[in-house]
Amino acid sequence: MVLLILAACSGTGKGAVGARLRARYPALKLSVSHTTRSPRPGEVDGVHYHFVDRATFEAVARDGGFLEWAEYAGNLYGTARSTVEAARSVGHDLLFDVEVVGAGNLRKAEPAAVSVFLLPPSWAELERRLRARGTEDEGRIQRRLATGRRELAQAASFDYVVVNDALDAAVDDLAAIYRAAKLRAAGRRRTIEALRAEAG
Ligand code: 5GP
Repeated sequence: MVLLILAACSGTGKGAVGARLRARYPALKLSVSHTTRSPRPGEVDGVHYHFVDRATFEAVARDGGFLEWAEYAGNLYGTARSTVEAARSVGHDLLFDVEVVGAGNLRKAEPAAVSVFLLPPSWAELERRLRARGTEDEGRIQRRLATGRRELAQAASFDYVVVNDALDAAVDDLAAIYRAAKLRAAGRRRTIEALRAEAG
């Protein structure tokens, strides 16, 4: 079972890259997080997130129900232990779309997970993409950029770094990482054992 962690500075295009990868590999499921933020238009409870109120989130956190959780832009986000356990029991691979602090904590909780930091082609391009969204005022954009500078400092500690210059190329790179992770010997014991049984 592959646990693939994808982190990036806000505005890099992590959501789009992850969605394309999952479209290519249906066995790779999104780890659906819990969040206290409200759904955006088109977002479906249980598909994009489990949308919960703060009291519910905090109760789950108190009971140790999250593998990791973090506050981001005033909202709480967390990965439920039960999400990973359920995937483990059916053998699905999981893609974690998380912010950088959560990615670090997930790596500690799941040391066999493969972590990827997605970079923008340049800082100027990241600023351009954030402004092109047209959803946020300048103050918020500046805050995201300041957070992004801190997040960027963590990039070198990830297992892999992919540059999202052209979407298709970034998805190809991520697919190569995912495919290599699936071929790791640790996950191939059954294949090896079957051949050993046959070999006698
Ligand atoms: P958004 O509100 O735009 O969907 O997500 C904001 C940020 O929270 C994104 O960077 C997203 O990857 C991150 N995020 C989503 N789910 C989780 C989670 O379960 N844990 C953590 N730490 N971050 C998350």
